[in-house]
Amino acid sequence: MSRRISIFGATGSIGQNTIDLIARDRAAYRVVALTGGGNIAQLARDARSLSAEIAVTADESRLDDLRAALAGSGVEAAAGRAALVEAASRPADWIMSAIVGAAGLEPGLRALQQGATLALANKESMVCAGPLMLRTARDRGGQILPVDSEHSAVFQALIGEDIAAVERVIITASGGAFRDWPLKDLARATPEQAATHPNWSMGQRITIDSASMFNKALELIETREFFGIAPAKIETVVHPESMIHALVGFNDGALMAHVGPPDMRHAIGFALHYPTRKALPVERLDLVKLGQLTFRDPCETRWPALRLAREVMQAGGLMGSVFNAAKERALDAFIDHRISFLGMAEVVEEVLVSLSSQAGHNAAGITLDMVAEADHLARIEADAVMQRKTW
Ligand code: NAD
Ligand code: MG
Repeated sequence: MSRRISIFGATGSIGQNTIDLIARDRAAYRVVALTGGGNIAQLARDARSLSAEIAVTADESRLDDLRAALAGSGVEAAAGRAALVEAASRPADWIMSAIVGAAGLEPGLRALQQGATLALANKESMVCAGPLMLRTARDRGGQILPVDSEHSAVFQALIGEDIAAVERVIITASGGAFRDWPLKDLARATPEQAATHPNWSMGQRITIDSASMFNKALELIETREFFGIAPAKIETVVHPESMIHALVGFNDGALMAHVGPPDMRHAIGFALHYPTRKALPVERLDLVKLGQLTFRDPCETRWPALRLAREVMQAGGLMGSVFNAAKERALDAFIDHRISFLGMAEVVEEVLVSLSSQAGHNAAGITLDMVAEADHLARIEADAVMQRKTW
């Protein structure tokens, strides 16, 4: 019997890589929902070729365009936030969560409420609402499989292991676009320069977050939330080749590393076929050709986001949501050339200080409303900080 699958954020980088895998074995899957943003032509093309049940654009004003693009195809068209959430409630066995930002949280949560397997690329869900996500999966008989490459690597290294024997988890970072820039030049770095990644091909926002290491900061928090590892046991190291995705260190000194070329179809394919392994169309590493792998210190002067992540993990409660929302606003402003590259961390730090009252809530009892409220407050505060400061 074919598996019912849905892809949230189908038109993005992760979404397209997921479709690439699905399209290679069409008979194995029945596509329920595909969602996208403003890229209507792409969404309609994929929905047609995969014979999806429904295509949803997040952009309410584009419903007529989507309808027109799907005319005669038999694919239902819908638009807007409510339609996205409704699509996530449609019965499916496996659902890819690959919307970018906090906007991905609610559809993912809905998917878990119906007891589906959620393949989670949207790291913001774990950062903002980790305990809620895990609790929902447990209560409804679903499961969450990490798709972030580092977390897929940790997940794989932990199979068959006792979590109590884990001494440390090392999340690797490429260092992004500016890892070799002199520190003094970072102040004038542009969004265009930040949006080019040395190793990975990804969406614009995560690529800029890689240059600032806000992406790594989110991933450290994601590690804490997903695996329940104490913050003191979570480390990061700069690894410019992006071949080792993460390492898990055990109490006997052994380090288990996941090694593979930077291709997200590794992690997506692992989550798609779990608990079995199936052949994937990814490059096989030639170690001799590769020659060497190198590692560097993750300098917190260059990347203050790493220090902020540590503070957020210590604070707990709703600070993950505050951190992510402030970062999203600061990133919007940087992309619009309203603040500088280094200004992003300054804004986020100020918001963390002003909203420190959001720390320490009983994380186990958090609700979607509480997360949404913290997110809302942080966005308002970030805007206020950016108004006050002169850049
Ligand atoms: P992307 O920008 O390429 O795609 C984002 C998708 O989300 C698109 O389909 C877009 O239309 C949709 N979208 C954007 N804003 C939306 C909104 N407000 N409501 C509904 N849909 C919206 O992003 P990406 O690089 O594919 O990343 C997606 C997620 O996966 C992010 O959370 C990212 O951190 C994570 N991730 C990505 C990679 C990667 O290699 N690209 C790796 C690890 C994790
Ligand atoms: Mg990652």
